[in-house]
Amino acid sequence: MSDTPVNLLDFDPEGLEAWFADRGARPFHARQVMKWIYHRDIDDFGAMTDLSKKLRAQLEQDACVELPRVLSDHSASDGTRKWLLAAGGGQAVETVFIPETDRGTLCVSSQVGCALDCAFCATGAQGFNRNLSTAEIIGQVLFANRLLKGSYGERPVSNVVMMGMGEPLANYRALVPALRLMLDPLGFELSRRRVTVSTSGLVPQMRKLADECNVALAVSLHAPNDALRDRLVPINRRHPIRELLRACWDYVQENGRHVTFEYVMLDGVNDKREHARELAALLRNRPAKVNLIPFNPFPGGQFQRTPAANIQQFQDILHNNGIRTTTRRTRGDDIAAACGQLAGQVENRVTSPLQGKTMGARG
Ligand code: SAH
Ligand code: SF4
Repeated sequence: MSDTPVNLLDFDPEGLEAWFADRGARPFHARQVMKWIYHRDIDDFGAMTDLSKKLRAQLEQDACVELPRVLSDHSASDGTRKWLLAAGGGQAVETVFIPETDRGTLCVSSQVGCALDCAFCATGAQGFNRNLSTAEIIGQVLFANRLLKGSYGERPVSNVVMMGMGEPLANYRALVPALRLMLDPLGFELSRRRVTVSTSGLVPQMRKLADECNVALAVSLHAPNDALRDRLVPINRRHPIRELLRACWDYVQENGRHVTFEYVMLDGVNDKREHARELAALLRNRPAKVNLIPFNPFPGGQFQRTPAANIQQFQDILHNNGIRTTTRRTRGDDIAAACGQLAGQVENRVTSPLQGKTMGARG
């Protein structure tokens, strides 16, 4: 077989069974190994006592279990924890754990940087370098669970949100196996409601995800009309609001729940009363929830956070129109662990695909 050992974290359950079958082993052997890795936190094949000696020796030669390497570890005064994880070539991505009384949410990264270049996002400002592998995505969950075990019970991570660095649906191929491992009984056994993919609106991949792995969906809307959204979220020029919302309603038809619309509150830009009314008109009588996110400023950014009183007013208008709305509490402020501040260390390797002819160049 190949000389470099294969990282078993790269396989979803089906993929792992196929890999074992290729080596003349049985599907249940793959399931035994999953149990060792994800339930018992054992990576040493020699210690997997229910496998034959021969299979253990073969695994030691062909396979490995490689978790992300931690470059730094920061704790905020409110309990939020942020890790910088090595992504090779001097680069890094960030993972954030947010403990609450009834749950522990892990904010997971999907790419080194992001090509979609939203105007208010620190990750976008860095450009894009590469996609994370399945092992690098699920490795964030495995690593956090192992490290936090004890402090937060047996399974510290009860919820995963794909809201770290990167656009998860632009890394569809590695994302879906990682999601399957989060849901699988031999993986992290999370219910579909507790795993959320956040997207800026890659419509074709949203439609695929609806069929292939229908987890909870959050959509970064941020503007109630195309003129403004074109400016804030450039992918809107390719998939405008009407098309995006149609994909949202189709998505929830499959699971009978709702879509969460994220809306970052940018002072004087998208936070006026008329924006609230326009947004309400888009979402009224639809399976929608709105999550208002106070903008998190970062060095070099051009926007300001909407004052709390205006956020409240915006929220009231939505409420009065029958739209369920919450405002996100900012967490981990003292360690820059909040949404959109995750910057890691990215060496821009490519310019945004949106900066080509169809989209016009930016910055
Ligand atoms: N790429 C995906 C997921 C990662 S970003 C997406 O865009 O949905 C997670 C959320 O943080 C998104 O809603 C994003 O728009 C928001 N965000 C980005 N920069 C932010 C900032 N500076 N302040 C507040 N929220 C921000
Ligand atoms: Fe990428 Fe999301 Fe940031 Fe937009 S908000 S640049 S899609 S990470």
